[in-house]
Amino acid sequence: MPNQTPDISIVVPCYNEEASLPLFLNELAQVVRSMRAAKPLEFEVVLVDDGSSDSTLAIMKEQTNVCCNDYCIKWVSFSRNFGKEAALYAGLEHATGNLVATMDADMQDPPSLLPEMYRILQDENCDNVATRRTTREGEPPIRSWFARMFYRIINKISKADIVDGARDFRLMKRPMVDAILSMREYNRFSKGIYGWVGFKTRWLPYVNVNRVAGETKWSFFSLLLYSIDGIVAFSTVPLSIASVMGTLFCIVAFFALIFIVVRALLFGDPVDGWPSLASIIIFIGGVQLLCLGIMGQYLAKTYLETKNRPLYIVRESNLDE
Ligand code: UDP
Ligand code: MG
Repeated sequence: MPNQTPDISIVVPCYNEEASLPLFLNELAQVVRSMRAAKPLEFEVVLVDDGSSDSTLAIMKEQTNVCCNDYCIKWVSFSRNFGKEAALYAGLEHATGNLVATMDADMQDPPSLLPEMYRILQDENCDNVATRRTTREGEPPIRSWFARMFYRIINKISKADIVDGARDFRLMKRPMVDAILSMREYNRFSKGIYGWVGFKTRWLPYVNVNRVAGETKWSFFSLLLYSIDGIVAFSTVPLSIASVMGTLFCIVAFFALIFIVVRALLFGDPVDGWPSLASIIIFIGGVQLLCLGIMGQYLAKTYLETKNRPLYIVRESNLDE
């Protein structure tokens, strides 16, 4: 491996990507070759195996051995599946380049965009080039609707600018990478972290591409949980729901009380209306449990953060070679 600092590091989180990883690396090699033909750039690829149960790791090892002259490969393999966020963090931590790109192994982040991203970083006054897909084509409509709602809500209640359709495919300058690494939180939500650290971002839109092989690891339910993680990580507004609703109900109850007392004085007090009473009790009970649940979410996240566990555990790597 060359000792000098690479110009560009490419971080790729991989979880059960045996089908797409060889195709991806092949395409990447071609792009790197064309970029090196134009300018003598040093490349480094950091592959993170996120506890895959298929032959992803074997492919990484094999690729390292056949390592071309165009880039060197570093690989890190986790002791179990820690999730994409942890894999991205590990990759960024081990990337030494002046510029660092993060991209998926399934070619949904086309390597062919890299030269353009590099050119923009060189020519324009910005700290990172980020990609966003322009359409949500090929996605179930209900999922798109939830996604749109999520972005609308989180942008209202959070200071971090979280962009709809933004992908984790970025090319960043070193200061931004260091800023992201300094955020060592356990509950990681990349889209929020990129927005939170700030820096000048140039957006590069592109048309959504489908996965080249294999299956997405995200079910509707896991996306829903992830969106809750995102809200809890980047906003404390839900915590004030209890106070707002409490105040509101107090005001309503106050006027209802006056109304009932006056009515009883004027028209007597026939015993009546227990169904409405039962409904009100159930409703208020529901609201209280909801608020308790929200507090529980924050408490759970706080609990995990205070444990200060490592974000990932490495089982094997070629970093010492
Ligand atoms: N990934 C990972 N760990 C996981 C899930 C996914 O490292 O637990 C990687 C996966 O190998 C891929 C990228 O994250 O390179 C994006 O995953 P996927 O394509 O499943 O997500 P989608 O593109 O559908 O959002
Ligand atoms: Mg994908």
